[in-house]
Parts: sequence; C-alpha cells; structure tokens
Amino acid sequence: MLTTTDFLHWIERCAHVIAEQRDYLVELDAAIGDADHGANMDRGFQAVLQKLAQETPGDCGALLKLVAMTLISTVGGAAGPLYGTFFLQMATKLAGKGEVSAEEWAFALEAAVQGVQQRGKAEPGDKTMLDALAPAVAALRNSLLNGRPFSEALQAAAQAAERGMKETIPLVARKGRASYLGERSAGHQDPGATSAYYLLQAAADSWSGID
Ligand code: ADP
Ligand code: MG
Repeated sequence: MLTTTDFLHWIERCAHVIAEQRDYLVELDAAIGDADHGANMDRGFQAVLQKLAQETPGDCGALLKLVAMTLISTVGGAAGPLYGTFFLQMATKLAGKGEVSAEEWAFALEAAVQGVQQRGKAEPGDKTMLDALAPAVAALRNSLLNGRPFSEALQAAAQAAERGMKETIPLVARKGRASYLGERSAGHQDPGATSAYYLLQAAADSWSGID
C-alpha cells in the first residue's frame, strides 16, 4: 500500500529530479520551443516544496490536489495546465484515501493521463508528453494484470515512458509550440515527454520497496 508519506516522497523526488534536469529540459525546449520548459517545471515543483513545508495534507488526494493547484498557478505555458490536470485527476480518484493500493494508483494514473489527453487534445504520436505517459500507463496496467510485483510494474512503466520519450525524436510535432516548426521539429526529443519520463522514473525509484 502507498501512504500519504509515500506520495510525499514521490513528489519530493520529482522536485529533485526536475531541479537536476532543469537546464537539460531548457535545452530541449530551446531546440523546438521557447526554452522555458525546465524553468517552468522547476519553478512549479519548488513552489510545491514550499507549500508542503508549510502544510501537511491529511490524505493522498489532498496532497495531490495541493500539487495540482500549485503547478497550475506557477508553471505556466502549455505544461502548467496539463500537469495540473494530471495531478488533479489523480487527486480526484484518490480523494480521502490515506492508503492506496497498486491497482488504485494504476487506475488513478490512467485517469490522470486521460485528463491530459482530453485537455490538450493530443494523440499518442503527436510528439507531446502523452508519448511518454500513455505507454507508461499501459505497461503499469499490463504488468499488474500479469501478477508482477508493484516495484517491477513501476520499473516497466518507467521504461515504457523512457522508450516513448526517445521515440518522440523522429516525430513531427502536431500539438503545442513545436508544431509551429512543422517538419523542422523532427530530430529533437520532446521536452514534455522528457519531464513526464522523469515523473514516472521518480515513482519507480521512490517506491521500489513497496509491494
Ligand atoms: P510552452 O510550449 O507553452 O512553452 P512548455 O515549454 O512548458 O510550454 O511545455 C512544452 C511541452 O508541453 C511540450 O514539449 C509538450 O510535451 C507539451 N504539450 C504542448 N502542447 C500539448 C498538448 N496539446 N497536449 C499534450 N502535451 C502538450
Ligand atoms: Mg516552452
């Protein structure tokens, strides 16, 4: 089972990795966007850490809702509302829960990714964060259905996200700022797919000891 503290550890790890990869995400966004994705995400997750230093949410849903609201008000750009939706949908599914099973988290993650898809109207293959998120959800669900331990399912999800991220390189962007470049967007890794991979890898790393 995942406790509120486990979710806190995940979010702290997300903030840490995003801070570490800030400049790399800026570099990726400089190639096909406006060079702000790393700065946007880092600002957002640092604001989340500040909020969490001031208040301790009482359950998993409340924690994720705090993350969502803070990201929505601080990240900006296309990614702010999309990651806001991601965490808000997850929060809604886990509202009032002090403990969450692997299956419940998989279900909540699925709702989170569907939320991103509905909000951004992107499909897998459009060279967006969905290209990392969608395969991750599928891998998590399949691994759990096949009876794999949660830690293994999380690794499978992170690996699927990483593959999806790399597979954005040859794609031509059909959504977001990168789509303005048309064919010239091909040959570059999508920044949002990269940050999405970091969030999934952070879950695999921070929850590796949980069944
Ligand atoms: P902006 O493009 O407004 O500067 P960011 O640089 O923070 O915002 O985020 C860019 C990322 O947002 C892209 O790399 C892409 O992954 C993601 N993105 C943009 N538009 C969409 C969309 N419609 N659906 C899903 N993801 C999107
Ligand atoms: Mg940008």
